Amino acid sequence: PARADSLDAAKHDDNRWPRQNSLSMKEWDIPYDELKLFEVIGTGRFGTVYRGSWHGAVAVKLLHVQALSDHAKPLDTFKHEVATFRKTRHENLVLFMGACMKPPRLAIVTSLCKGMTLHTHIHLRKDKFNANKSVLVAQQISQGRAARTSFSPLCRPTPAPLYRAGEDSVTRCLSVMQVVGPCARSARIATTILLANFAVKQQCLHCCVSAWRGMGYLHARGIVHKDLKTKNIFLENGKVVITDFGLFSVTKLCFGNNARGDSLGIPPGWLCYLAPELVRALRPHASLHLPFSKATDVYAFGTVWYELLCGDYPFKGQPPEAVIWQVGRGVKQALTNMHASKDIKDILMVCWAYRPQERPDFASLLATLEKLPRKRLARSPSHPVHLSRSADS
Ligand code: ATP
Repeated sequence: PARADSLDAAKHDDNRWPRQNSLSMKEWDIPYDELKLFEVIGTGRFGTVYRGSWHGAVAVKLLHVQALSDHAKPLDTFKHEVATFRKTRHENLVLFMGACMKPPRLAIVTSLCKGMTLHTHIHLRKDKFNANKSVLVAQQISQGRAARTSFSPLCRPTPAPLYRAGEDSVTRCLSVMQVVGPCARSARIATTILLANFAVKQQCLHCCVSAWRGMGYLHARGIVHKDLKTKNIFLENGKVVITDFGLFSVTKLCFGNNARGDSLGIPPGWLCYLAPELVRALRPHASLHLPFSKATDVYAFGTVWYELLCGDYPFKGQPPEAVIWQVGRGVKQALTNMHASKDIKDILMVCWAYRPQERPDFASLLATLEKLPRKRLARSPSHPVHLSRSADS
């Protein structure tokens, strides 16, 4: 029966939820009572994140939801976003494990990131990323090249149970596969992957081995991050892990930004990631309807690149009105005092291009990053490359 169930699930196209995919949706619905919540890790605009336990260590983001009686539509939005998360499985993305979808307790459960965010490294600890290290981080954020995973095309059927208790490594879970029949989508061999001890997913082996990395992977799957920033990028022993992707619309369910922002609902540290077309669309209390796109993610990546290289935010210290006026008119942060090669500055310039269509995609960004000659990355001695404390290596 388990095999029949999984084959049945394979027939359902993920994108059709919630119309027809409620069966598969249940696999991702975590009863709130099954979660153990420990200490608060931090509180953001839309929720509070706890260290928790659910078949192992997890992070639980408990959303600050408004009364939901008249919010059937936003609740659907939340479920749609959950449907989006479950399509993501990648070593440079936080592992989505499930969600509590019964109001008033809405929560998102993901793997617990070790390490620290780039924001903590750069802005709080003042760690310095030398140019080579910045490139390595940027490549992992952007990489759009097909990368082989550890899956073997010759993987043999393995008997159930596929998952051994105590394993919490995604890689180990993913390496346990069972061949069950043809993939519903591409008629290639399909595999059943037991992921993190709770969900069986149909996955075409071909899709697995051609997995995309980081933002390139998200964009290849049609997912716009909408909130790419150093606070949402963890560094775990040199490995980049991106969090909070596609979550922005969840805010329709949440208390407004104003508690921690200004009259336009702009929280501190957010504006410098917004592309000109987003800045021009800013209206009081209307940040939910901004025209996010893959190109706005690329603009935000440009800001992350700037922070890595300069250790600061662009337009640092300027009031929001001044930043809005400049960005909205295509004025960019001046780079005259930045001691970096032209190639490096060019990346900033193309990511921050005024017209969205002039910004590169992540695949071509990666190609550019890979072409940067190592020797030209070196900065002048006046730039703080050799500092006492270096970032996570
Ligand atoms: P904002 O909501 O404005 O984007 P934020 O990113 O700090 O700000 P949250 O995403 O709610 O807000 O995160 C709150 C805290 O929890 C942050 O310190 C963040 O680094 C941490 N955090 C979020 N997700 C995880 C995770 N999967 N593992 C470990 N810590 C996490």
